[in-house]
Amino acid sequence: MNDKLSFSLNTSTPQSMPGNSQGGIQHEKVIIIGSGPAGLTAALYTARAKLDPLVIAGHELGGQVSLTYEIENYPGFPEGLSGQELVDLMKTQAEKFGARIKTFTAVTEVDFQDGSPFRIKTDDGGEYLADAVIVTTGATPRHLNVPGEKELTGHGVSYCGTCDGFFFRDKKVVVVGGGDSAIEEGLFLTRFASEVHVIHRRDELRAGATLQARAFANEKMHFIWDTVVEEIKGDGQVEAVRLRNVKTGAVSDFPTDGVFIFIGHDPNSDIFTGQLERDPFGYVITDKEMHTNVEGVFAAGEVQDRIFRQVGTSVGQGTAAAMTCERWLAEHEPVEAQPAATERQ
Ligand code: NAP
Repeated sequence: MNDKLSFSLNTSTPQSMPGNSQGGIQHEKVIIIGSGPAGLTAALYTARAKLDPLVIAGHELGGQVSLTYEIENYPGFPEGLSGQELVDLMKTQAEKFGARIKTFTAVTEVDFQDGSPFRIKTDDGGEYLADAVIVTTGATPRHLNVPGEKELTGHGVSYCGTCDGFFFRDKKVVVVGGGDSAIEEGLFLTRFASEVHVIHRRDELRAGATLQARAFANEKMHFIWDTVVEEIKGDGQVEAVRLRNVKTGAVSDFPTDGVFIFIGHDPNSDIFTGQLERDPFGYVITDKEMHTNVEGVFAAGEVQDRIFRQVGTSVGQGTAAAMTCERWLAEHEPVEAQPAATERQ
């Protein structure tokens, strides 16, 4: 996929040298877009390789993982830890080696068409040139796109049990979806809610066996099979969901105080439209070494991984992207002019 064109960095003019800021445009050797596990790992590796990376973190440092209540399957932490704790540790470790992390700032525009150095603009008016870019923008929870969903988001409709579960103490909630996220978050919600009803469009869950066993054993968890949500109802606050049984066609209203939606994710790749090759679902296409189709631009984590979407896999992909980036920069760095060899006396 990567045509490995003969290519070298365009660093011929003094104002384009990394570290310089000329005319309000800051020149960096490596910019990492996004600060989830893939981005913070890429920051750690490129910082240790003395590439002085700048991470443009987005508005949520750590991305989705920072909203995860407990992570039990990241190796090295047998007691588990919260997503926020893991993000803080990763950030501290990357900064220890010199990574700079620009928080509360998101990239709004990229121009990869003319090759390195690449142009990047941010929502605080910043403009950058980067010799190499690592894209780790992650993914965003998918919406149902049914009437009432948008209007009642924040008024009973939520995409994060960890963030909002507390507000549903002793209340009845529904969870939409049948994957790992739906069941994991549903189980978490049983700590607060009096009843958690999982609404799934099929008659068996997609979630892994361990989570399924835990869910079926939990007396607060209930299941509504072969059913989809057609509308979320409420006057300023969620009151009910309109359900349709996909096998019988029967339609009914199901009273509830909250609707938690976990039906998958979409990659955060809109800003790369026309810049990077993406698959039909919008995921950035990479090869095994995390090259994108643009020389000098690499991608890692959920923006390019439709299958695994684990902290562990994102960390691995962030590592690979950083190592490939380091090698690519070394191969394409212009060779310093050597003084002419002096003749032997
Ligand atoms: P997912 O595995 O894609 O599951 C999405 C669920 O939502 C599926 O059950 C799907 O139904 C349902 N769904 C999709 N579109 C729908 C719609 N329009 N209306 C109603 N239902 C709809 O997504 P995920 O649960 O977010 O998990 C994503 C990845 O992260 C997976 O690889 C998962 O293993 C991983 N993950 C792992 C953990 C963990 O290991 N602890 C935790 C969370 C996530 P169908 O089943 O009928 O397709």
